[in-house]
Formats: sequence, C-alpha cells, structure tokens
Amino acid sequence: MASSVETIHTKEVEDELQAPRKYDVLYVNLLLAIYVHIAALYGVYFAFTSGTWNTLIFHIMISQLVTLGTTAGRHRLWSHKSYKAKMPLQIILLLLNSMSFQYSVIHWARDHRLHHRYCDTDADPHNASRGFFFSHFGWLIVRRHPEVLRRGKAIDISDVLSNPMLRFENKYAVPIGVTFTLVLPTLIAMYFFGESLNTAWHINMTRYVCNLHLAFSTNSIVHLWGSRTYDKNLSGAQSTFLSIFTWGEAYHNYHHTFPLDYRTAELGNNWLNPTTKVIDFFAWLGWAYDLKTVPVDVAQFRASRTGDGSNIWGFKTE
Ligand SMILES: [Zn+2]
Ligand SMILES: [Zn+2]
Repeated sequence: MASSVETIHTKEVEDELQAPRKYDVLYVNLLLAIYVHIAALYGVYFAFTSGTWNTLIFHIMISQLVTLGTTAGRHRLWSHKSYKAKMPLQIILLLLNSMSFQYSVIHWARDHRLHHRYCDTDADPHNASRGFFFSHFGWLIVRRHPEVLRRGKAIDISDVLSNPMLRFENKYAVPIGVTFTLVLPTLIAMYFFGESLNTAWHINMTRYVCNLHLAFSTNSIVHLWGSRTYDKNLSGAQSTFLSIFTWGEAYHNYHHTFPLDYRTAELGNNWLNPTTKVIDFFAWLGWAYDLKTVPVDVAQFRASRTGDGSNIWGFKTE
C-alpha cells in the first residue's frame, strides 16, 4: 500500500514537472557573457605582458577570498543554514560575496534550494540532465523554464528575506557588484601597483571569469562526472581534484546526500576542505555556532546501503 501511494505521488510530481523545454535566448545576458569572456582573454594577454607581479598576486588572493565567500557564505550559511553566524562574520562574508558579482545572496539561495529540492528536473535552475553547457553557463543566457519560476515562488526563503543585511544587498545588488567586483579591484591595481586602466580592468576581468567558472563547475562537472560514494541514485558526484580549487566544495555526492552538514564532506580531518577549517576557526572565536554535522557511522551506513562502492576519496574499494 505504502509503495503504491509513493508511486502515485512520484507520478504526480513528474506530470506536474512536464513542460516544453525552450531555449529563448536573453540577448543582453548573451552579449554580457561574450564581452566578459573576450575581456578575460584579453586580460590573460596583459597578465603575461604588462601586468606586475603585485597585481597578479593581489588577484590570486582576491579569487581565493571570493571562493571562500561563496562556499562559507552564500552556500553553507545562507542557503543551507548549516551553521549560524554572528553579525561580524556575516558582514565579512557579505563583503566577500559582494566581490563575486553573481546574483544577490537571496536570489542565489532560492536558486540553490530549488536545485537541491528538484535536482535534475525542469524546476532545477541549472538542470544537469540538459547537458554540460546548460548546467554550466547556458542556463544564465536563456529564459528560465516555467517550472523554475513556478516552484521558485513556492520555495521558502523567509529566513534570508528576514535578514536586513541580505535585503539591502538584494536591493542594491547591481551597484554593489559593480563597485566591489569591478571598480575597486581595478582602482587598487592602478593606484597601488601602477597599472594602466586597460591592464587593471582586463586582468580583473580574467579573475572574475575564473571565479565564475569555478563556481559553476559544481553545477556542471560534479553533476556529470565522479564517484557516487553515498548515493548512486543522485547525480551529484565526488571530485577531489575540483575540491582543491573550490575550497572543499566538490564532494558533491556527500553534500546532496546530507545537505545540512556544514562541512559538505566527510573526509576525516578535512585537510582538503579549507572552508570547513575557516568555519571551525570562527567557531573557536565564537562568531560561528550551531554547526550541524552528520555522524560518521550514519554517513558510512548510508554509503554501504546506497553508495556505488567507492570510498570517501572516490576510489573503488573492491
Ligand atoms: Zn548546496
Ligand atoms: Zn548540486
């Protein structure tokens, strides 16, 4: 009886999710995407010719801070509520998020909750079942699927909407993004490291585009390739290689199996998961608290029951 109820429910959900897939191109987004990529390539040229070492090191540092802001802030804190943060830490994380110029945190959190709840269906904004390019970048340059809009209205984001700092950032997302992501890093490279406007602007574009692609890789690459240690039925997969570049964020099979775990990975002492180390540091300081985790035996039992037989590092154990 229980299984027939489940079957009916699943069929209803599938029927409700069915709607034609169209590719209505958003031409402003497309032109912006073309521009930032050409500018980023131009920036690579400047990095090898006129850019100073100071500027390059400065941008490597910023790109790391931006990644940390995305992983510890808009993902683990605000989208998943996997830990709580006091005001000073929230301000730091919001500043780092302002340097990434993706959507506002509120917008991002709604998209991400949709992604987890309706993963790989038409209600998932970057539905990986529509292929690599769509899940990586294509979803940003075409009109959203009607299911994303319909389900998006129903998803609960009352917690982020009740945060006055996030409401402010949402209201002024464009000027904040332009100021902290584009203008300030350009001016700093000009006035402190002696770059020309041309060089400073384009090297910053390279850094910005690299950060975007790193963030998007967890929607595309790790939903298509990698081991599925904890649940082989989920498309999210484990990628130690990508985790090195994303501050520990690409153990995606664990994350989709246990989305409330602030570590987004199991991994023993988490030495390959620097975001977790940073959150642990702020917990020690008292600025982060209520860190949620999944007991190791629960994770391992789940892996033995539904996993694909690989260990936590993604290697087959048999
Ligand atoms: Zn997530
Ligand atoms: Zn995912």
